This record gives sequence, C-alpha cells and structure tokens, in this order.
Amino acid sequence: MADQYARVIIDISHEKVDRPFTYRIPDSLCGVIKAGSRVRIPFGSGNRERTGYVVELSEKAEYDKSKIKEISGLVEGSVTAESQLIELAWWMKERYGSTMNQALKTVLPVKQQVKGAQKKYLRCLLERDSLLAAWKEAEQKKYKARARLLEAFLSSPVIPWETAARQLNITSAAVTPLIEKGMVAVDSQYQYRDPAGAIGKKEDLEGNTPIILNSQQQAIADDFCGRYDSGIRETALIHGITGSGKTEVYMEIISHIQKMGREAIVLIPEISLTYQTVMRFYRRFGNKVSFINSKMSAGERFDQFERAKKGEISIMVGPRSALFTPFPDLGLIIIDEEHEAAYKSELSPRYHAREAAAFRAKQSGASLILGSATPSVESYKKAKEGIYRLYTLSQRAKKDSRLAKAEIVDLRKELAEGNKSVFSRLLQKKIEDRLEKGQQIMLFMNRRGYSNFISCRSCGEAVKCPHCDVTLTLHRDGRMVCHYCGYSVPKPLNCPSCGSPYLAGFGAGTQKVEAMVRERFPGAKTLRMDMDTTSKKGGHEEILAAFAAGEAQILVGTQMIVKGHDFPNVTLVGILAADISLYAPDFSSGERTFQLLTQAAGRAGRGQTAGEVVIQTYAPDHYSILAAARQDYQMFFDREMAYRRLMHYPPAWGMVTVQMACPDEQGLAEVSGRLEDRLKAGLFKLPGVEMIGPVNAPIYKLHDLYRKILYLKSENYDILIKIRKWMEDFFENGDIRKDLTVQYDFL
Ligand code: ADP
Ligand code: ZN
Ligand code: ZN
Repeated sequence: MADQYARVIIDISHEKVDRPFTYRIPDSLCGVIKAGSRVRIPFGSGNRERTGYVVELSEKAEYDKSKIKEISGLVEGSVTAESQLIELAWWMKERYGSTMNQALKTVLPVKQQVKGAQKKYLRCLLERDSLLAAWKEAEQKKYKARARLLEAFLSSPVIPWETAARQLNITSAAVTPLIEKGMVAVDSQYQYRDPAGAIGKKEDLEGNTPIILNSQQQAIADDFCGRYDSGIRETALIHGITGSGKTEVYMEIISHIQKMGREAIVLIPEISLTYQTVMRFYRRFGNKVSFINSKMSAGERFDQFERAKKGEISIMVGPRSALFTPFPDLGLIIIDEEHEAAYKSELSPRYHAREAAAFRAKQSGASLILGSATPSVESYKKAKEGIYRLYTLSQRAKKDSRLAKAEIVDLRKELAEGNKSVFSRLLQKKIEDRLEKGQQIMLFMNRRGYSNFISCRSCGEAVKCPHCDVTLTLHRDGRMVCHYCGYSVPKPLNCPSCGSPYLAGFGAGTQKVEAMVRERFPGAKTLRMDMDTTSKKGGHEEILAAFAAGEAQILVGTQMIVKGHDFPNVTLVGILAADISLYAPDFSSGERTFQLLTQAAGRAGRGQTAGEVVIQTYAPDHYSILAAARQDYQMFFDREMAYRRLMHYPPAWGMVTVQMACPDEQGLAEVSGRLEDRLKAGLFKLPGVEMIGPVNAPIYKLHDLYRKILYLKSENYDILIKIRKWMEDFFENGDIRKDLTVQYDFL
C-alpha cells in the first residue's frame, strides 16, 4: 500500500494555518484519520509531543520521505468545534474548488495579536439624547476635539483609545473634563459584552409585552420541536408571507433548543440586521445572544467567537460568516431570507451558506430552518419533493394587517397617451391622495446614480469604461464613474466615438427620481436611500429611523428600502420601473424580479390601514410581474420551474461555470481553446453533459483582465464535480501560463 501523509496544523491561529507540517500516517491509522482529526505528533528538534489538527490527506510527500516523522496517535474522544470546522473547510474545498488554505481562512476566525500594553477604551456614559445635546453644545462652544469624540460616540458607544488618539486626534486634555463630568469612562479592558451597543438603552428593553403566537405560528413551532425531541434532525422551509411572524417562530424554537442546553446560529442578511432586529433578540434572550457584522474588526469578531466557545453565549446572530461560530454543541441553524444573494460567497471558496449550513448541521446533529416570503426556486423544489419539511404561514401576524392590493400600470400605454413623466397618472393620483391624508409613501427604483448612462443620439454609442466594457454612470458632480473599477472622467462634451455634440442621459436613478418628486410634489418632504446616501457608517439606520419618525412623507430608494423595517404608516408603494431587473443577463433574473417586487409590495400596509402597490412596467404580461402583483408564489414557481427545466438550468440541472482570466488576450484564447478541445475529446463519453463556450464573459475586460467563461451542465452533480477535478489537474499540470487564473462557481 502506498504511504499516506497528513498535513497537520499545530495551533489554530492565522499564521500557522498557512504553514501545515507533513507527517506520515501509521498503517494502523490509515482510513481512520480524516480532515479535522486531532492528532498527537512529535514536534521540533526535541520531538516534544504536541497536538494538532489534520487539515489534508495526501499520497505525495513534498520532500525527503526519510525525514518525515510519523503521527504518534489520535486524541481520543475529542471532536471539538475546530475539528468540525476543519472538516467543513475540507468539504468546501472539495465541493466548490479552492485551495485548502482559502477554505481554512474562511472557517477559522483570525486571531489578532494585541500588541504591547493593555488596550484602553473610552466608553460613553450618556443616553442618546444627552449625547446629542452635549455634542451640539461642544460644537457651539467650538470645543472641536470634544465635538469630534462625542460625534464618534453617536455611532459607537465604545472607542479604543488608540483610535481616538490617531484618527480623531484627541488628547487626554480633551477627555479629562468629560471624565470629570461623568460623561465618559475609561476601561482598561473592554469585555465586548454588548457588541451592538444596545443593552445600555434601557427604554428599548422595557415596556415589552410578550407576543403570543397565533395558531399557525404555534402549530409550526410545536410540530418542529416535537420532531426535534423525538430525535429527528432535518431541514425545514418556512414559507411565510411578508409580516407573517417568521421571526417569532424562530425565537420560540431557539428557546426550546436552548432549554435543552444546545446552541443556535441565526443567519440574517446584513441589510436586515437593523437595530430593531437586534433588539428583538436581546429582549428575548438577554446576554445569551451575541451579534457579529461585517463592520466589526477581525479582532472583535474573534472575541465573539471565543465567547461562543467558552459557553458564555448560546445564540449567535449575524450574516453569512456567523455560520462558523465555534459552538461546542450546535443544535440549530436558522437562515432567514434564505433566497438572498448575499448568502453566496463571492470569494473562493464560493460556498453557499445554505449548503455549508446543511453540512455543519449534519456534523453536529443539528436541524436547519430556512425561512422566506419568496423562497429560492432551489429550496422550494426540495420542499415540494419532500426533501425539506415545508411549513406555511399564510396570514399576516398582526391583527387587521392585510396584504396590499397591487395594480399594474403599462408604461407603453402611458407614453402613447402622452405622459412622459416617471410617474404614471394612477401613481400621481395615489401619491396626492396619501399626501393629503398624511400617510407615507415609498418609491422604489432599482438603479443608482443621477442618470444611469449617457449615449449618443447621432451614432447610438454609450459612453463606456476603457477598462471594463460597461457603461459609465453619470453622477451629479458631472463626472462619469465606472461602478466596477472606479475609473472616472468628466462628462465628455462630444461623443467619444463620432464627435457629435448630441449626448443625452437615459433612464432615471434615485437622485433624479428624488429631484422629480420635489418638482412634482413640492409640499412633501422626501428622503433618499441608496448606496450614496448610506455609505457612511450608520447612514442606513439613520435614514430609516428618520422615516419611521415621520420626518419625511416620501422615501425614495433602491433595493435597500425593500427590507428591514416595519413602517405602519406606509400605505402606498410605487415601483417605478419593475422590469429593470428583468434585463440582467443571467437565468435567474425572473426570480430576482419576483423577489424584489414581492418584498417591495410587502412594505405597504403593515399597520392598521390597508396598503396599495402600483407596479409600473413595460412588460405587464411577464409572469414574474403578474405573480408578484398577485402575491402568488405558486404561480411564479410553476412558471419558473417550467422555464428552468426547458433550458436545463438549475435547479433542474446542475451547472458549473469556469472563469478564466488573463491580462494577455491571445494567451487566454490559446488556453481556452486547448481546454475546449480536451474536454470535447473526453466529455462526450460521459452521459448527459452539456457544454457552452468558452465564451467571452458578459464583461469581457475587467480591471485590465480578459475573461472567458465555460458553462457545464448535467443532471448529475457528481459528474460535474469529477469534471471540475479533471480541470483542476489540467490547469495545474498542463503547462499553463502563470498569469492565468481560474475560478469555479457551482450554481
Ligand atoms: P416576518 O419575519 O415574517 O416578516 P415578523 O416576525 O417580523 O415577521 O413579524 C411581523 C410583525 O408582526 C412584527 O412587528 C411582530 O412583532 C408582529 N407579530 C409577529 N407575531 C405576532 C403575533 N403572534 N401577535 C402579534 N404580533 C405579532
Ligand atoms: Zn456618437
Ligand atoms: Zn471600469
């Protein structure tokens, strides 16, 4: 039998993950040791026994075999959270195609070295209102340093001394008076008890009347918990319309799991992780819950993971990466808004949180709950086939709250009848009506920028980025910006292609819509929410809070306004151009359009007053738009699945894309031609595999790299994984130029 080798990392910390050591596996342990196993090994020149984790197995030794030491033994009975996470990394590498290093870095938190002296933190002791008042006073009195610090406290109640000194340029002379007045405290070590900075706000924790689940909610919780108690571990999909109370069901089930002494992870898309959401969990679970988000530093996230490992907390709420919380006895994973694109990683390994969660759940004997008002076609298909257990919430949870009534407006007809405004006559009438009644309105435009792009009226060319092959976006300051690479130029006076002076903007971005609202409804106060207005920390929350407080009657925004808050006073949602997302060049654009429209429609009428939705479109007969207007998921699903089956798209068929990128166009063509020939020679001996391409990527040139994409489809997933492995070998050993990079993506 050939020798077997294992690559072992000694300690789980960032640096060591990069440097695994190779050991021989003794015959007695062959077949027993796998990725994630904890082993005893002789280490260093004195061969002192240490323990380490196996991260990879191999039949090849990278250097002189005679110098390779042997693993002494297996550490018995110690399946730790880390060993599970390493096994998960190994699975991700195999499944999605990446290096083990990339996979390990994804699942293992980064340990940051705290350098030098103990860290000091400044903690704000003021309530928000007093803080605001103190800040304004400091500004008036021109205490500039003090004002900067107080302003910073508005977004973060605890600030490392180092940050205050370096970035805010604060000296102790500015801080001392604040300490003396009891406004600020200095902590030598901050315990990160409360990463959201929320517990301090007592008024939000009090006056909380517990919610009594309605019969639909209770039935789901009872059924799920009953099955859990009888030892069944499974994946459940909760299909609940917007506002049906899914979160309450999650919390009920978590509470049950927690009583059994097990832990839970709750994934929520970052954009929905608002103050309100965080508070709901705090109110119910107090300091047993913690949060992470992408704005936290690696060190802060690491601290929260440490608390999970030590058993200080039993519930972790966060975006995709919260899945890797090292709980010792994980009993439940919940993925809210499971259809969200943010659950798919954009970095290698390009894992989907849904699939990775299923693997983790299996490892630790946990169940998995997926929830959505608009489940992904993939998940719903599995639920229909009985692979997932399907639960349905068909009513709004709050008494008297009903789904909104939707109307579709055909924009072609509006134009033909002489209305060139972005507001159809029906929408205008309804906006006026709501303004009169003092109710609120949301206007949704799936675009950003002042006017999306400009093109030439003489030759028809759009002004494009020289690096990326995409149209440039015109901003209000008169510059044209590439949203892929950041390239920017002043707006040209003449067409770069033909020199004609007749350049004009098309389409309307949120800025332009806002300007038009102001013009058409001069009495109404408006707010705008898009990438530009929310880019600063806390910007998103601030705008939503202002709107919730009634500071404006109309909120104009992009996708961002679609999720998150409940606004009881919003009784009208206008979708200005429903079909923009239908034009995206990929097979799931119909699904994305349905999801966006349904979620947007779900914003209307959350309170006592019935809501209305106006959907403006050039494609009033498209099933995604019709189904969204009727809030009819079944209709959408049936049509969409029929289309996917017909076209052999996922989830009917499995699909893998291979993207090759290279700065040299010729070189790329050569390699991709060779790959195509080799695949064609071998592939068609495999039954039922379809190949498209390699073709130029939709954006052929990006960041000065040329890109080609190959699509492989098969009903059989295992065959696709086999082909991918074959390709990995081709790119590794096939005499391929070094400046060519490859990325795999399973759809
Ligand atoms: P979803 O997650 O399905 O959108 P939520 O759980 O956020 O729904 O609930 C929507 C609203 O209804 C929230 O304000 C919530 O507090 C309220 N709610 C949920 N369940 C009930 C219930 N059983 N009784 C009264 N109000 C409820
Ligand atoms: Zn031109
Ligand atoms: Zn560009």
